[in-house]
Amino acid sequence: MLNIVLFGPPGAGKGTQSEKLIDRFQLVHLSTGDIFRANIKGETELGKLAKSYMDKGELVPDSVTISMLESEVNKYADPKGFIFDGFPRTSAQADALDNFLTSKGTEITAMLALEVEEAELKTRLLNRAQTSGRPDDADPEIIQNRINVYNRETAPVADFYRAQNKYRGINGIGSIEEISDRLFKAIETIVV
Ligand code: AMP
Repeated sequence: MLNIVLFGPPGAGKGTQSEKLIDRFQLVHLSTGDIFRANIKGETELGKLAKSYMDKGELVPDSVTISMLESEVNKYADPKGFIFDGFPRTSAQADALDNFLTSKGTEITAMLALEVEEAELKTRLLNRAQTSGRPDDADPEIIQNRINVYNRETAPVADFYRAQNKYRGINGIGSIEEISDRLFKAIETIVV
């Protein structure tokens, strides 16, 4: 299986690039943010819980997020692989994902990390707010909190994959096509 963690701060382009990667490599796209938003729309208990954190730009607790992600993975009988978009976001999530995939006889192939500087992230998120309808994109204070949470809790997850020699940094500045080309090349050099 080809299992990719698509990593990067909020606004780095993970969702957009995931679409390109699933087309090219026939992978299943699992975005924890999208799954939470679908639950909010469907007014489920999980959605209500997730919304209370997401509206503030905080992380949804690990236990809830990990069990949701595992049950999503288990829905697929014979996948070619997964793009994990927005997960893992904490060291505990990275550990849990490793153990879970090992128990299924597979593993993460690589972490591809989109690198974009903070000023550009803020501009992109405020622009995206005009079409995304996401309350967490529209408020500069919430955006700043999401970036702070990323720096504090999520950025260290890169070290987890560096230690396994699975980390690849990708320049996240340029056109959508330029960036997907960089991602495709990185994957092709890993899988050959
Ligand atoms: P995203 O769509 O990836 O930008 O995620 C939007 C929001 O969903 C985040 O700011 C968090 O509140 C929540 N979220 C998404 N993925 C996770 C995760 N892996 N762990 C905890 N919270 C998450």
